[in-house]
Amino acid sequence: MIDLKDVEAYEHIDQSFRDSVSTIDQKGKRVWIYPKKPDGVLYKWRTYVSFLLLAILFGLPFLKVNGEPLVLFNILERRFIIFGLHFYPQDFHLFGLTMVTFILFIVLFTVAFGRLFCGWACPQTIFMEMVFRKIEYWIEGDGNDQRKLNAMPWNAEKIRKKGLKLAIFYVISFLIGNTFLSYIIGIDQLKDIVTSPPSEHLSGFMGMLIFSGVFFFVFTYFREQVCLVVCPYGRLQGVLLDKDSIVVAYDFVRGEPRGKLRKPKSPAPAETTSNTGEEVLLHETQPGDCIDCGLCVRVCPTGIDIRNGTQLECVNCTACIDACNSIMERIDKPKGLIRYASYNGIVNKVKFHFTPRIIAYSTILTLMVLLVSFLLYNRGDVEATLLRTPGTLFQMVDSTTVSNLYNLQLVNKTKDELPVTVKVVWPENAKLRIVGKNTANADGSAAEASAAASNEVSFNLNTQGTTENVMFIDLPKSSLSGRNTPVKVEIYSNNQKIEALKSNFIGPFVIK
Ligand code: SF4
Ligand code: SF4
Repeated sequence: MIDLKDVEAYEHIDQSFRDSVSTIDQKGKRVWIYPKKPDGVLYKWRTYVSFLLLAILFGLPFLKVNGEPLVLFNILERRFIIFGLHFYPQDFHLFGLTMVTFILFIVLFTVAFGRLFCGWACPQTIFMEMVFRKIEYWIEGDGNDQRKLNAMPWNAEKIRKKGLKLAIFYVISFLIGNTFLSYIIGIDQLKDIVTSPPSEHLSGFMGMLIFSGVFFFVFTYFREQVCLVVCPYGRLQGVLLDKDSIVVAYDFVRGEPRGKLRKPKSPAPAETTSNTGEEVLLHETQPGDCIDCGLCVRVCPTGIDIRNGTQLECVNCTACIDACNSIMERIDKPKGLIRYASYNGIVNKVKFHFTPRIIAYSTILTLMVLLVSFLLYNRGDVEATLLRTPGTLFQMVDSTTVSNLYNLQLVNKTKDELPVTVKVVWPENAKLRIVGKNTANADGSAAEASAAASNEVSFNLNTQGTTENVMFIDLPKSSLSGRNTPVKVEIYSNNQKIEALKSNFIGPFVIK
């Protein structure tokens, strides 16, 4: 926020904007925003970027690698695929670390470049401004036409326009809802739901309706309120931004004191003719470049006046930059009265530089990226957990052999069947017995186990499956080293050791 105390030029400006939110009136009712259609270089570039991002968003669920989706966030079955890599609940630490790294990246990015993400890449802004708003302009006309249409009594024209708009909005919301659903359940399952009668996939069908309904509500009615009252990122700006952050900002040093443009009374001075030959209205008395035309406010989709400084409501959509540039062109002044700039850039003419804050965040971020990359690179194909079965002690198999019961969970993270061998390597004369040769995989199929009275057992792990095994380790009394004897189990696949596990063996008493 601009420190207005430092800016003498602001002394004459009404400060009442601080007392209320632009979209709520004195009685607490919603003020509907009718932004003027933006136009300009940045708006064009944002359109191109948005279409590219939309193509990626809608196209990704269709992309497959070796028959598997490229990305999948199946929270229902706790199965995640990110660019072909499979993640399971056992990888939660990786997920947590990746999230922390991502949040750090957002913090760093915001400290340096403000809400660039909101204006250029946030799905909410892209859908609202580049899809739904464009359709609204096409059907109902520009901001003022929309205001008039809403104010007029219901007639054939209003019913036709509103009906057409809502129908198209619902179809698009349905598409968005289905796309998001495909990221959760996968495109094949979604196809199944779409092509079968609703009664066969009642929960999937309900999911589709709920997703579509939520998006329809958000883009038809709730709109900018998502950014203002729901999105936590917007509310964090107060602590993330500083005077060196680059944001969409009004150059108050150049623009103030603002004032309406007046025709000069005296004979026109030389500079009243622009280089295009048009007559240009230059003021005599107004020292600031802002002619108080209000166009930057009229195009703002959140209804704020950027000349009041950086505000929580500003999503950095750049519409006001384009609007003001068009005015500056017309009055023959340099563009950029509203532009990407920092407070220090405007007041002290400081160029973008790496502040200690940015350097500190960057260092931590680099370390986090290295750590996550290392963990990802060293992530094994099989995850194994060995635990003594809770609530059990020991059993005497015969007068010389003691046995303990264990739970062994094996997760195959690859898309191939994996032959594994479970081997108890310490104590040397320990034996292994898996209870039931056919242990069930998570998908219900059988994992063939070749159980034998030896120190190892081999079986196949099904593709992307979790195998829960219950097994006994038998030890001669003579091998016990006390109340607790350390046990070491190793997991092999294709003669390669892939995991080493440790546990304890409880015995009746110390023999030696
Ligand atoms: S102030 Fe400008 S950049 Fe911010 S939301 Fe409004 S139009 Fe977009
Ligand atoms: S568009 Fe530019 S000139 Fe017009 S009110 Fe906004 S800042 Fe001032």
